[in-house]
Amino acid sequence: MLSLMQDRPLLISSLIEFAALYHGDVEIVSRSVEGPIHRYTYAQAHQRSKQLAKALGRRGITLGDRVATLAWNGYRHLECYYGVSGIGAVLHTINPRLFPEQIVYIANHAEDRLIFTELTFVPLLEAMADKLDSVEAIVIMTDRDHMPETTLPNAVCYEELLAAEDDDLSWPQFDERTASSLCYTSGTTGNPKGVLFGHRSTMLHSWAACTQDVLGLSSQDTVLPVVPMFHANSWGIAYAAPMCGAKLVLPGMALDGKHVYELLDREKVTISAGVPTVWLMLLQYLQQSNKTLPHMSRTVIGGSAAPQSMIEAFERDYDVTVIHAWGMTEMSPLGTTCNMKAKMAGYGYDELLPYKVKQGRAIYGVDMKIIDDDGNELPRDGVAFGHLMVRGPWVTNGYFKGEGGQVLDDGDWFDTGDVATLDPEGFMQITDRAKDVIKSGGEWISSIDLENVAVGHPEVAEAAVIGISHPKWDERPLLVIVRAEGSSIGGDEILDFMEGKIAKWWMPDDVAFVDEIPHTATGKIQKITLREQFADHVLPGAAE
Ligand code: ADP
Repeated sequence: MLSLMQDRPLLISSLIEFAALYHGDVEIVSRSVEGPIHRYTYAQAHQRSKQLAKALGRRGITLGDRVATLAWNGYRHLECYYGVSGIGAVLHTINPRLFPEQIVYIANHAEDRLIFTELTFVPLLEAMADKLDSVEAIVIMTDRDHMPETTLPNAVCYEELLAAEDDDLSWPQFDERTASSLCYTSGTTGNPKGVLFGHRSTMLHSWAACTQDVLGLSSQDTVLPVVPMFHANSWGIAYAAPMCGAKLVLPGMALDGKHVYELLDREKVTISAGVPTVWLMLLQYLQQSNKTLPHMSRTVIGGSAAPQSMIEAFERDYDVTVIHAWGMTEMSPLGTTCNMKAKMAGYGYDELLPYKVKQGRAIYGVDMKIIDDDGNELPRDGVAFGHLMVRGPWVTNGYFKGEGGQVLDDGDWFDTGDVATLDPEGFMQITDRAKDVIKSGGEWISSIDLENVAVGHPEVAEAAVIGISHPKWDERPLLVIVRAEGSSIGGDEILDFMEGKIAKWWMPDDVAFVDEIPHTATGKIQKITLREQFADHVLPGAAE
């Protein structure tokens, strides 16, 4: 028997419509590329999203067409989120940190019809314009006064595009399974692959994000996503904030400690979200300038593991609760968040820390298990580690245009490529990417654990651990270090510091110092490049 409940489709346009109606005077504050801070409200954002939707319609953009953005976190980018997806077209957020050849590849692969871009990226697009096969026009997100001299064919001024339209529009209704946005994974090997999100998956993900045990976003909050809107939809915040009427602060391109602090302070931000490297810059700024964070109650850290030293700095020194989070573009992206349980209320901080460094508990809606190489499920005892498998209504079915082939097993499980443990309380901990784990004497060593302990040393700015081949043990860990500014610390001192904090046989066999560790376009340590760099490295005592 079918229910007698209404089958209204879950559509992204309803988010901005709701925010305009019930939180119409709540502000969206953006640091603009042109310089000044821009302020307006959800009501205005809604009006302008409708004007944009009409402008797109006038250009013949319709259901399923791809419209790309190459843009920072800002109000015009937000208008694209709603104007494009609202009419059933697909918002393709391009990561500007990709190599130019990769941007050309994905714009052509996605068959983007329009690209909306910032002033910052005009030179980048000029250099590749003749290779963009499907692009009909490039819309520069600025006003007439700031329009640059450009060789771009068909450059259009964003504000002029909007000014030609009124906001007399009812959002169209269509199937909630319609594609809404597209984001390519950075592709450490091979070409990037497109993850195609939908209206239904995005709406379910946004509801989950707002719940207390996930991000706990509400109309009481002011949220500043440092995580870019071109990276997995700013972890869903660009949708979740209007859903709950939270004030939104968008930092533009200035992500250094000073500029992020300025917005956190002036706008009285209560919750923020970003990758560890961004927080490292902020913490350094706070320490150097003796500033505090009186308004902020929590911060979300994900994308890479949050080191214990960073969690302690936020919580002990600044009274900001860290919500450690794990996910991936293929999961819209939230999979787990690390919030404590009621029964832990009486725990001392030292008892809580072992949980806080974990990536957290599965969000309702994400099924999760760990398996061995033969596909057998492993116990949830916090000790056994295996391949982390997920499934759920906001987990991908496969990549755009079938790239990468079949990605699910018979039970619909998607292999995350991560290796993890699950403990009896349900907390998941990532030990490594499957391809980065160090295989020593038939056992696995977690490179992430070693990195996290090493960066706890105040004279270590960044640490990466890779496996180096060894005649006896197969592989042994090499610790690669970027020293903190002004430090001349030696390898032995770092290893002494690590002693007692990790199992004896995990101790790196050698320490190498570099000026810089390579990163991917999403800010993760690029282990492939590092392995190439140290391909000929011989560990002490390993010469045959
Ligand atoms: P995002 O960086 O938005 O999570 P990506 O698709 O770029 O999405 O990367 C996903 C991968 O990043 C995961 O499979 C995992 O290896 C790594 N990752 C994400 N969050 C964490 C975390 N908190 N700790 C360790 N690794 C993480």
